[in-house]
Amino acid sequence: MSDPTDDRTEIERIDKEHVFGTWSYQSEVDPTQIVDADGVRFTDAAGNDFIDFSGQLMCSNLGHAADRVSEAIADQADSVPYVAPNYTTEARARLGEKLAEVTPGDLTKTFFSTSGTEAVEAAIKIAKFYTGKDKIVSRYRSYHGATYGSISVTGDPRRLAAEPGIPGAIKAPDPYAYGSTMDPMESLEYIDEMLMLEGDTVAAVLVEPIVGSNGILVPPEEYLPRLKEIAHDHGALLICDEVMAGFGRTGEWFGSDVFGVTPDIMTMAKGLTGAYQPLGATIVTPEIAAHFEDNMLTHGHTYAGHPVACAAGLAAIETYQEENLIERASETGEYLGEQLEELADAHPSVGEARGVGLFRGLELTKHSEERVPFGEREDKVGKGSTVVDEVAAAAYENGTYVANMINTLIIAPPLTITESEIDEAIASLDAALEISDDAMIA
Ligand code: PMP
Repeated sequence: MSDPTDDRTEIERIDKEHVFGTWSYQSEVDPTQIVDADGVRFTDAAGNDFIDFSGQLMCSNLGHAADRVSEAIADQADSVPYVAPNYTTEARARLGEKLAEVTPGDLTKTFFSTSGTEAVEAAIKIAKFYTGKDKIVSRYRSYHGATYGSISVTGDPRRLAAEPGIPGAIKAPDPYAYGSTMDPMESLEYIDEMLMLEGDTVAAVLVEPIVGSNGILVPPEEYLPRLKEIAHDHGALLICDEVMAGFGRTGEWFGSDVFGVTPDIMTMAKGLTGAYQPLGATIVTPEIAAHFEDNMLTHGHTYAGHPVACAAGLAAIETYQEENLIERASETGEYLGEQLEELADAHPSVGEARGVGLFRGLELTKHSEERVPFGEREDKVGKGSTVVDEVAAAAYENGTYVANMINTLIIAPPLTITESEIDEAIASLDAALEISDDAMIA
């Protein structure tokens, strides 16, 4: 019997009863039913409209009306919906070729999977098989995925529940100029020393070229080229995790392109299909690809190179290219950056506005000079709700969906967003930030 005071829709009630929520206490899971999505907006079952200012989980890079992708999915499902990975399809081969074209440098051969997590799993195993070593150095402020290997190389607190995790997952400091005592370039010298002290045992250094969910951390220009040198000096590969930064978010195809670096291995997902299908990809250099000519690639999935997902990926990349979405993100991104700087000037609780292109963040603080992060409200200890959550909730009430993590509001809208849609979302944030201003230490 349903509770008559429960104002959830029937679908929301069924879902709550039968489906686990992710990363949550199940008692607190309260899913909202979404019934429509178009352009940069989506609509809930009560008829409320929201601007999607974070592209859902920073993945809906094409917005919610990319007809070319939807049609490619329908056509592929009609002709060859699935074949085992030992066959190929035009969609898979052409997507492999396309990725070799749009990724930096000579990256050439791709392993397909179905998520960012799996793309990272494949990268870790390929690095291990290729180098014959099995340690991975990654950084504290990072997220690389949820399965056992990829959560072990994740640095943020989500890893703690899975510890001790896989052996050989070593963490290094971050390029976090705003909130860390270590200067970003100094942190690199620390990594250099770590690799020296580990001896010749590290397979790869794994980084997000621009850190995503851990706060949109953009390193100095010289950081990534120097990191590649350091890794290579110690016989380790450089893996760039482009799951969030990739596919136009930064105003370049990939975060690595912002710094002119070609990694040895690159991981992709999210924007690869604009989130129209689940697809992960791990691309490698010709040297690494050649290694597996006579050494077995002991890795695979039933859905590796799934035809429908590959058709979506190919159509998504063609859409980025034909609609010039990467250049557009760079231009609209400048405008977004200016609006966020204005918010930072107007609101003392915005400690820093940072980012590139349409990949930006507002880090909030309760004390501008001492840069004190907002913790839980005293009356809400244990509920995991911070002032930053309250700001995001107020923006949502005002019609703007914005993701937040720890102390940062993450702004990563579809690359199709217009300046007037940005203005609308900024107005919601402007009103919501009164909450954090009021909660500052006097
Ligand atoms: N790497 C990065 C940089 C990510 O941002 C994410 C997801 N937020 C992942 C890996 C994991 O991707 P997925 O959730 O698709 O498994």
